[in-house]
Amino acid sequence: MEKYIDVVSTFGCDVFNDSVMQARLPKKVYHELKRTISEGKELSLEIADVVAHEMKEWAIEKGATHYSHWFQPLTGVTAEKHDAFISTPMENGRILMTFSGKELIKGEPDASSFPSGGLRATFEARGYTTWDCTSPAFVRHDAAGATLCIPTAFCSYTGEALDQKTPLLRSMEAVNEQSLRLIRLFGNKTSRRVTPSVGAEQEYFLIDKDMYDHRKDLVYTGRTLFGAMPPKGQEMDDHYLGTIRQRVSAYMKEVNEECWRVGVTAKTQHNEVAPAQHELAPIHMPANIAADHNQIIMRILKKVASRHNMRCLLHEKPFAGLNGSGKHNNWSLTTDDGINLLEPGITPHENMQFLLILTCILKAVDIHADLLRESAADVGNDLRLGGNEAPPAIVSVFLGEQLGDVLEQLVSTGTATYSKEGQRLDTGVRTLPDFMKDATDRNRTSPFAFTGNKFEFRMVGSKDSISACNVVLNTITAEAFREACDRLEGAKDFELAVHDLIKEYASSHQRIVFNGNGYAPEWLEEAKRRGLPVLPSMVDAIPAITTEKAVRLYESFRVFTRAELESRAEIKYDIYAKAINIEAKAMIDITTKQIIPAVVKYTSVLASSINEVRKAGPMDVSVQMDLLEKTSLLLRETNDEMKKLEKLVGEVREHSEGQDRALFCRRELFPAMEALRKPVDALEMLVDKEMWPMPSYGDLIFEV
Ligand code: ADP
Ligand code: MG
Repeated sequence: MEKYIDVVSTFGCDVFNDSVMQARLPKKVYHELKRTISEGKELSLEIADVVAHEMKEWAIEKGATHYSHWFQPLTGVTAEKHDAFISTPMENGRILMTFSGKELIKGEPDASSFPSGGLRATFEARGYTTWDCTSPAFVRHDAAGATLCIPTAFCSYTGEALDQKTPLLRSMEAVNEQSLRLIRLFGNKTSRRVTPSVGAEQEYFLIDKDMYDHRKDLVYTGRTLFGAMPPKGQEMDDHYLGTIRQRVSAYMKEVNEECWRVGVTAKTQHNEVAPAQHELAPIHMPANIAADHNQIIMRILKKVASRHNMRCLLHEKPFAGLNGSGKHNNWSLTTDDGINLLEPGITPHENMQFLLILTCILKAVDIHADLLRESAADVGNDLRLGGNEAPPAIVSVFLGEQLGDVLEQLVSTGTATYSKEGQRLDTGVRTLPDFMKDATDRNRTSPFAFTGNKFEFRMVGSKDSISACNVVLNTITAEAFREACDRLEGAKDFELAVHDLIKEYASSHQRIVFNGNGYAPEWLEEAKRRGLPVLPSMVDAIPAITTEKAVRLYESFRVFTRAELESRAEIKYDIYAKAINIEAKAMIDITTKQIIPAVVKYTSVLASSINEVRKAGPMDVSVQMDLLEKTSLLLRETNDEMKKLEKLVGEVREHSEGQDRALFCRRELFPAMEALRKPVDALEMLVDKEMWPMPSYGDLIFEV
């Protein structure tokens, strides 16, 4: 019998959520904690002690033996240290299960082994994790048993952020404060908090584990470094939204169940464009919870894949020639009383608050396009952005027909007097109901698209944290709101001032709006003409975070200090150089130990065949001769290119750590890797499949 999931009782059953707190905490404690969560009030140790005790009792009922401060350092993955609840044994030798308020609020992992970009000398190893009580604790079940996971921020002894969450929380504060200022000007007296809402769509690949194990490139680097295109790729468009195969359906069912248990709102699932590619999208949440949930989703995707003898690939470009994977970060601003500030209403041209917010965001994105681009900079993403499958590496905004038209009216005549309406969609089939079309069609090629009541930032890499782009979105929006409020608060005639401001912003920042095809080569030229930043690779993008403009922005909202920004730039250069180095070394390793031996073997098979056949009589051996010649030439080329790559890898250390080394890797190592790949992929097309040392693309993507 199929086991069906009771979704309503499963959802959130492993989360220390509001209903659990309400049921278990004394009233006074519950209200204190709620105030801390909703208003950011400080939590007293006394209250924390009670919360910790109840949290522990609840977790133990769920089977938990350990608790863990769970955090997101700058390594790109999450980190955790597990502590058992056990106390020092009593005199009678027995132990108690304990968990104090102090242990809940603060942890002290040794910070010296995490990247700090020079922020903290290694001998000052102290780092602190502090409880983010706005993101609920949960119990995770896995091979380690059950663990109480406490979402935390990670800072150095001197309070510098060493993680993704701290700046995100700071930026949420910034945009909250400035949004409240702005909506107060428009007469809103009731909303108490404005929160960025985020829903991140997650793309991933699933491949068979046994195949994966035979691909050392996937094992070492997460992507294939070699691989000829199979006869069939994604050209038939038959995978996108296609019927989900049973093996994958069974996987998705378990992924959903695990997500729901820990309160992750897994909602949409489907096949994506490339064979073996899929997507999962949750319902949107406050930005920090969405960021935590996205980490949880990635972990669940990987864990459940193992159970099904599969591997989940989260790399941005696992296969050359096929679409890569990304994350679409849907972002809006929502008040605590349920108002979406990005909701245009039916007549956007009359909605002055919306138009001001919209033009502020245009201004923010125009001024800080480089920061937004940088937030998606990632070694793997360099292979995806601009590859006619993902947005180009140039930031622009898509507004769509209706809003684009309103903006046009504002710029050309100074006022907008009408909004294009959605029309009735006529399918031409009488039995199908007519319905109202959206006033705006979709544009899949834009990196930052307005999609009805939210913006969709589509550049994020599939394995990256969504924190970085939300830090940028929140902070640059806060800055634009602040500047608008500064001017409007002193205005004599408010309505006139708002009107003038909207017109001014719309005119001065119109260049960031692009409703055309972002994949077209002409767009690159046009973007350059408009003066928009064109930053093709990660190493080109990193300098954006340490410009005076960026430092001023972030310091004024206390999101980052100059030192924090500089350290992050260092870490990123370092990550870039290391990742490329690993890829280059993996290529050399695979070429030496697998490719060359296999090809040598194949050439001797050909050679002996030629000799044998000749011995047998005056027969035609031209096919074998031809193959042998082609193979030998490519083998020679492979060896030459590998030698060049080896030499360059040897030179990496001559370049000083940081930007220098990263640039060397980008400019020298990366092209040399591509040069080595070429003859190897050509060899794969020639050599006997039985003798080729690893599964082909065809095996990998069509076997699940
Ligand atoms: P599509 O693929 O058409 O963009 P999906 O349904 O796959 O749409 O994903 C849409 C995502 O946008 C979901 O994660 C959803 O929760 C999120 N979303 C919807 N409304 C908002 C909003 N107001 N703010 C932020 N995210 C939102
Ligand atoms: Mg989608």
